[in-house]
Amino acid sequence: MSVLVDLHLHTTASDGRLSPAELVRLLAKQGLKQVAISDHDTTEGLEEAFAAAKEFPDMRIIPAIELSTDIPGDEVHMLGYFLRHEDEELQTILRQFRAGRLERGRMIVEKLATLGIHVEWERVQEIAGEGAVGRPHIALAMVEKGYCKEPKDAFPEYLGRNGLAYVERSKMTPPEAVEMLIRFGAVPVLAHPAYLVNMESTIAELAEAGIVGLEVYYAQFSPETVEQLARLASQHGLIPCGGSDYHGLGNEGEPLPGALGPPLETVDLLEQAAEKIAAAVGRQARVSAE
Ligand code: AMP
Ligand code: ZN
Ligand code: FE
Ligand code: FE
Repeated sequence: MSVLVDLHLHTTASDGRLSPAELVRLLAKQGLKQVAISDHDTTEGLEEAFAAAKEFPDMRIIPAIELSTDIPGDEVHMLGYFLRHEDEELQTILRQFRAGRLERGRMIVEKLATLGIHVEWERVQEIAGEGAVGRPHIALAMVEKGYCKEPKDAFPEYLGRNGLAYVERSKMTPPEAVEMLIRFGAVPVLAHPAYLVNMESTIAELAEAGIVGLEVYYAQFSPETVEQLARLASQHGLIPCGGSDYHGLGNEGEPLPGALGPPLETVDLLEQAAEKIAAAVGRQARVSAE
């Protein structure tokens, strides 16, 4: 049966390589019906995506985001669905996050230079264009200079969480991200849980912290892992989500949009959760205004 839902996608608004309009055309070609554009720390790709999607009336784009958070020794990515992306306060916070990314990108490039890896910060910024700067842009600059064959090769030794050139930026904790997403009407979902160092205990803690969903159908996870995550989601009462995490970076074997995704029912469950969150946030706003 073909996959109709992909809830994890990146564009040139962050570290994806297709513009929002190009991505939308690819999503339609892949036969997807419910998709979420979830760029890192930005919703700047959404407007163009919505406009491009007018050509494909039977495909719906869910406004989403992927936030980076930190726990001791590990990074945790938090997706948020049905985000109230037009909120000015939200946009101010996201602009701050992106400023932090610029600073940290420059520091990573400096650290690489001390390790004998010379990429120009100007080139990294050119590759990123208008997009929120991320490590994949630095990895692409390293590929151009012949330091590695594919962007992903730059991570184990240099750019990964425990790599030699890794630089931290100030990040929220996962509970802070959950709180922020809920404040702006979004349903918080833990991204790619099998990348976590301590997967089961972290899922249990984050379930306590208020995540509503868990990425289960993640294209790069094995069928066994997907099955294990489906069990964990059901154990903790979390909505099983998922998608391709498509970036189009040119890594060998990178899954295309629609490579794997949750059932259509997941979208209904997320929508119901978003309605509940909106009602609760609205209630709070009314109480504090009184
Ligand atoms: P950043 O937003 O700068 O923290 O970069 C996060 C992005 O880097 C992720 O969305 C992935 O595309 C990529 N990434 C992070 N860790 C790895 C890794 N170990 N291997 C390949 N890509 C990675
Ligand atoms: Zn990314
Ligand atoms: Fe991620
Ligand atoms: Fe992602």
